[in-house]
Amino acid sequence: MNVMTAVRAASSSKAAEHFDVLIVGAGISGIGSAYHLTQQLPDKSFVILESQESFGGTWLTHKYPGIRSDSDLHTFGYRFKPWVGPPIATSEEIKSYMGEVIADNDFGKHICYKHRIERASWSSATNLWTIEAVRTDSGEPVNFTANFLWMCQGYYRHSKGYTPQWPDMDKFKGRVVHPQLWPEDIELADKKVVVIGSGATAATLIPAIAGKCAHVTMLQRSPTYFRVGRNAIELAETLRQLQVKEEWIHEIVRRKILFEQDAFTRRCLAEPEQVKKELISQITAVLGPDYDVEKHFTPTYRPWRQRIAFVPDADLFLGIKSGKASVVTDEIERFTEKGILLKSGQEVPADIVVTATGFDLCVLGDIAVTIDGKPLNFGDTVTYRGMMFTGVPNMVWVFGYFRASWTLRTDLVADFVCRLLGHMKAKGAKKVVPALRPEDHNMPLLSWIDPENFNPGYMMRNMNLLPKRGDKPEWQHSQDYWAEKDEIPAIDLDDAAFVYD
Ligand SMILES: Cc1cc2nc3c(=O)[nH]c(=O)nc-3n(C[C@H](O)[C@H](O)[C@H](O)COP(=O)(O)OP(=O)(O)OC[C@H]3O[C@@H](n4cnc5c(N)ncnc54)[C@H](O)[C@@H]3O)c2cc1C
Repeated sequence: MNVMTAVRAASSSKAAEHFDVLIVGAGISGIGSAYHLTQQLPDKSFVILESQESFGGTWLTHKYPGIRSDSDLHTFGYRFKPWVGPPIATSEEIKSYMGEVIADNDFGKHICYKHRIERASWSSATNLWTIEAVRTDSGEPVNFTANFLWMCQGYYRHSKGYTPQWPDMDKFKGRVVHPQLWPEDIELADKKVVVIGSGATAATLIPAIAGKCAHVTMLQRSPTYFRVGRNAIELAETLRQLQVKEEWIHEIVRRKILFEQDAFTRRCLAEPEQVKKELISQITAVLGPDYDVEKHFTPTYRPWRQRIAFVPDADLFLGIKSGKASVVTDEIERFTEKGILLKSGQEVPADIVVTATGFDLCVLGDIAVTIDGKPLNFGDTVTYRGMMFTGVPNMVWVFGYFRASWTLRTDLVADFVCRLLGHMKAKGAKKVVPALRPEDHNMPLLSWIDPENFNPGYMMRNMNLLPKRGDKPEWQHSQDYWAEKDEIPAIDLDDAAFVYD
């Protein structure tokens, strides 16, 4: 018996601690879910297990210069806690907001940090989940049992990002860095930096380092849409001048933003060419008529098929205008000792290459799940509204929105879970599992998300890992907050899609 097996055997003889609800992850979803649970079902016992040393999730992991939200915090913040700062927030500001929620509600005693969950096993004999976690500091195994698993583990692997392999990367004499694992010791002064990618990460990082290195180049295969605007909301400023209460300002500004986003989405579908023209003209206004906006900032896809990053105060474009940053739109042929050779034959010199190339999709937090002894292949399940999964009892996953703030869905899903748990109690049920109804059996089963609707690389690369979608609203995650804000509260919990025991 090796040491780990011995420690595991010793620990499994310890009684597992039991909770009504076990929340996975202390990111924005996990903390929000805990809040709603305590408000709506104060009698339920719960624990939050978090593998990292603190709360924050995404906002703790990402430490690259300039890290900030690209959603406004009135809607990325919870509906129950007013956001009082500028709409686009730094990770420090988001963590301090979450820290206040934890302190105000005394959640500290409910969170077990440095507890990485490795296995979760459902038993229909006991109607319980057994959760096997490992303490990341000591390696000690710790077991729990729970009636209900509330999965708030996000959707990507925190331990590493996605870096494609280009030819001859090993010959490059400089340093290659992924923004998700930003090294503390990196020296930028006098260095030529190339950032590969053109998404929100690149758009954030580039202005933050533009004045601190010799030069920074954004190297993109193809252009992306951006929105440009002031990092302020005039209505919030006016209401504050009028000394309106922050609770009211939060609610009014949320409603305004959501109303405008809805109108914008509709316009993207109804008149994509006009929207495209408007988005691009915002960039031309900063860079001037001589800049090749057509080549570097005019995407071929229609607006909204991928998330549109917001560039507050045009900082990315001002960096380009000042000459401290530049854009190259081309494909990589291979790395060289001194930089990157492009298909056009141009070589971009680099001391540091930052691969802002995206995430590594991760389903269920890399937890090995079994149902009555059988390993769960998540890709074989069908999702109930992107929250629950056929054949998987007593589990909900918080998978937010891409086109609206993620957290809007955290709030909605939490209301659903609390209603479901209340309903189970009233019925005396110990188990609920979604199942296709007779009328659903001929339903076509499609990929989790329609690539025509939304197609970011990390999803496209790994769609097979995600549950299937049907062609009816109840069997898909529509990514439509404006429909779901009415649909989720109206879900009939006695519908045949829910099988209780
Ligand atoms: C740089 C960046 C900027 C973003 N900006 C925005 C934005 O502006 N607006 C927006 O809507 N979305 C944004 N997103 C998407 C963002 O990830 C979500 O909005 C949101 O933060 C996800 O929160 P979460 O709590 O669901 O998941 P996460 O933030 O991923 O947190 C999940 C937590 O679960 C823990 N965990 C995972 N697996 C396990 C396990 N097995 N055991 C124990 N713990 C586990 C993780 O350690 C982590 O702390 C951004 C993403 C990134 C990377």
